[in-house]
Amino acid sequence: MSDLFSLEGHKALVTGANTGIGQAIAVALAAQGATVTCAGRRACDETVDMITRNGGSATTLLLDFADPMAARDSFAGAGYTLLVNNAGIIRREDSTDYSEADWDAVIDVNQKALFFTCQAFGRELIAQGKSGAIVNIASLLSFQGGIRVPAYTASKHAVAGITKILANEWAPHGITVNAIAPGYIATNNTDALRADPERAKAILDRIPAGRWGAAEDIGGTAAYLCSRAAKYVTGAVLNVDGGWMAR
Ligand code: NAP
Repeated sequence: MSDLFSLEGHKALVTGANTGIGQAIAVALAAQGATVTCAGRRACDETVDMITRNGGSATTLLLDFADPMAARDSFAGAGYTLLVNNAGIIRREDSTDYSEADWDAVIDVNQKALFFTCQAFGRELIAQGKSGAIVNIASLLSFQGGIRVPAYTASKHAVAGITKILANEWAPHGITVNAIAPGYIATNNTDALRADPERAKAILDRIPAGRWGAAEDIGGTAAYLCSRAAKYVTGAVLNVDGGWMAR
């Protein structure tokens, strides 16, 4: 049974793996036996250390999606079978005042870089005739509107769409493409929300599980979606939200 969830023999690339959800995903994949490349615009030394201390295998790679095509040369001949697109940014401003610069920055990292990273990974796997898995990190704002985050909401709706079209095109090649929609998780991304007592209380009151999510809650789900246990799961956007969307 445990073999169903093993990632032994897999090589994974996780973007934005220096902190938060990406770090927890890298740790979870390594715990299941994957060799993990922890990619970030800064070195992911802390994550590599967490993995190697537990007997896992990991390295760090600099990838800055200020250039959305940054990953274009990362996959050829490198042997990756798993890709987790986690890197993402959020910029908050009223929609009436939202700037073009903020719009472009968010769309470039969350949407354009995500698609072209999937493309580079998919091209390589298909050329090699190998199966594999992609996990994209979406959001509750892949379904809902949010407030003061128009570019983020647009980009995360796009993540759900990109996940579905790639699932359709690449299922015949044995490549699953799924997304995780995390609920409210305590990371840098939600610092501003948690610092606002009114918003923080309103959010917590609506979460059936009665707590904010932890990055580790997402790590386990990503490991599952990468595993043989999920080989017939593709095109799904899986909520990991303590029940938020059920409410
Ligand atoms: P986080 O701690 O801010 O992590 C974001 C990650 O993306 C960091 O590693 C960050 O690197 C990286 N990143 C940002 N810009 C980048 C760039 N230009 N190139 C490469 N990497 C870049 O927040 P998080 O919550 O863990 O976010 C991870 C993902 O989960 C994001 O896609 C986010 O939208 C999504 N998400 C989070 C929540 C939540 O409640 N926290 C909910 C739904 C979805 P730096 O550390 O260098 O900035």
